[in-house]
Order: sequence, then C-alpha cells, then structure tokens
Amino acid sequence: MLESSDIEKINRAAEILAKSKYAVVFTGAGISAESGIPTFRGEDGLWKKYDPEEVASIQGFRRNPRAFWEFSMELMKKTSAEPNPAHYAIAELEKMGIVKAVITQNIDMLHQRAGSRKVYELHGSIEKLKCLDCREEYTWEDFTDLIQNSEIPRCRVCGSWYVKPKVVLFGEPLPSTVLYQAIEESRRADAFLVVGSSLVVYPAAELPYIAKSNGAKMIIVNDECTIADSIFDVVIHGKAGVILPKIVEKVKEIRGSMS
Ligand code: NAD
Ligand code: ZN
Repeated sequence: MLESSDIEKINRAAEILAKSKYAVVFTGAGISAESGIPTFRGEDGLWKKYDPEEVASIQGFRRNPRAFWEFSMELMKKTSAEPNPAHYAIAELEKMGIVKAVITQNIDMLHQRAGSRKVYELHGSIEKLKCLDCREEYTWEDFTDLIQNSEIPRCRVCGSWYVKPKVVLFGEPLPSTVLYQAIEESRRADAFLVVGSSLVVYPAAELPYIAKSNGAKMIIVNDECTIADSIFDVVIHGKAGVILPKIVEKVKEIRGSMS
C-alpha cells in the first residue's frame, strides 16, 4: 500500500513530466530487479557473493573466463528475463512524446524489448560478443543453447576461450561516443528521471549533476537512499515496477485535463 506522502510525490513527479519538453530517463540495475536480474549493490546484491575484481574486470576475464561466465549467467538468469512494468512505463512515456531519451547502465536490453527506441547503453549490451584473439563477432543467439547448458562459449574460428560479450568490464573504458551523447542529452533535459541506480559508479554519479546544473527538474525512484538524493526535487523510495506505472497513469490524467 502506498502512503499518502508517496501519492503526493508521484503526483509531483507526474506534473514535472507532463509539463516537460525534453525529459530524459537514466536507469541502473534496480529497474531490472523485478525482472529477476540481481543488482550489484543493495541488499541482495551480487557483490555479496562475488569478487568484482575477479569476475567483472577485463583482467579477471583474461585470467579465468569460466568464472566470468558463471557470474554472467547468474546476472542474466540464463537470459530468460522479461521487461517489467517499469520498463514498459518508460517506453510509454516515450510514445507519448514526453521522454526523449533513455540512458542506461544496464546491459540486459530490456528497455528495447519493452519498446523504448532511443536508448544509450553506457556499458554496452549482451547482444554481441567478440573473440579477443581473432576479432570474430557473434550474436548472443549463437551461443544461447550452450550457455543454457552452463557451457562457456569458444571461438568457432580460432578456438580461443576469450569470447567476450561487448559489455564494459571494470578496467575498460566506456564507449566514448555513447558517453558524449549521454552527456549531451543530460544537458538538454528539462526533466531528468533516475530509476534504480545507487549513483556511485562513474558516470552515473556525474549525469544527474550535469542535468541539474543545466536547470532540469530532478526526480529519483529508488528503493533506498542514494548519496545524491539531496539534488533531487522529488525523491520516491519504492519499487520501480510499482511507482512508474502510477506516474504514467497520473501523467495521462494531467495531459487529458490540459488538452
Ligand atoms: P547498483 O546495483 O549499484 O544499484 C542498484 C540500485 O537499485 C540500488 O540502490 C538498489 O537499492 C536499487 N533497487 C533495487 N531494486 C529496486 C527496485 N525494484 N526498484 C527501485 N530500485 C531498486 O546498480 P547501478 O547503479 O546500475 O550500477 C552498477 C553497475 O551494475 C552498472 O554498471 C550496471 O552496468 C551493472 N549491472 C547491470 C545489470 C543489468 O543489466 N540488469 C544488473 C546488475 C548490474
Ligand atoms: Zn577467435
């Protein structure tokens, strides 16, 4: 059950979005938690179980591709995850012409699968894989059967075990064009909505400040406090899959009464 203070915040968030001309959404692992994909930090975060330096860094991948794949499979829950109501709500706001861009740290492609069209993936995605030895590229489908049987991909051209998804690991740079575009979108935003991010990883920590300093109205939906809560005009602590559909509902109501 939502408390009346939450309902009031949802209404304020909806009002900001309904009146905005260029809303930008920024998402982290928390938006996919209700799709069954574990987050890194937070209560049930994967960092409680795995050592990030070992399994999610480029050096760790080079040392032990198998450990990386075991971790990735848990992350992706064997690729069976589906978008949840929060992903669909954001796609709907784009269709309504309110949301102009989604910037995500996630690699799970759930925004696109929910219907979002303009998505900037700061950390790449699992869609493509590349052999680090011969540069041969693969799609996720090429190895789905193998991965579902808990086997690890091997390059079909050169036999290398270093077939890596095109995601950004610790120790690797972010794709610079995507980062540049994400900064531009954040600058341009007159409303900036953060969903499910602890806002501690660069550039996650940076983008809300860029939007704020360019005058955007700031909204965050996250199930716990973040270190940046104080820069937001509306802070809603709750589940993304519950809160976002309610915001959309209210936006429609406001839009209806404006026309
Ligand atoms: P994070 O794990 O640091 O933070 C997630 C935040 O979401 C936490 O503050 C948590 O309290 C909150 N949260 C959890 N469940 C929620 C829910 N149902 N509704 C609202 N909030 C919820 O994630 P991050 O900020 O994205 O940064 C960590 C890195 O993890 C990123 O680089 C990202 O690439 C990677 N990652 C991606 C996926 C994915 O693709 N789905 C999953 C795990 C981690
Ligand atoms: Zn190869």
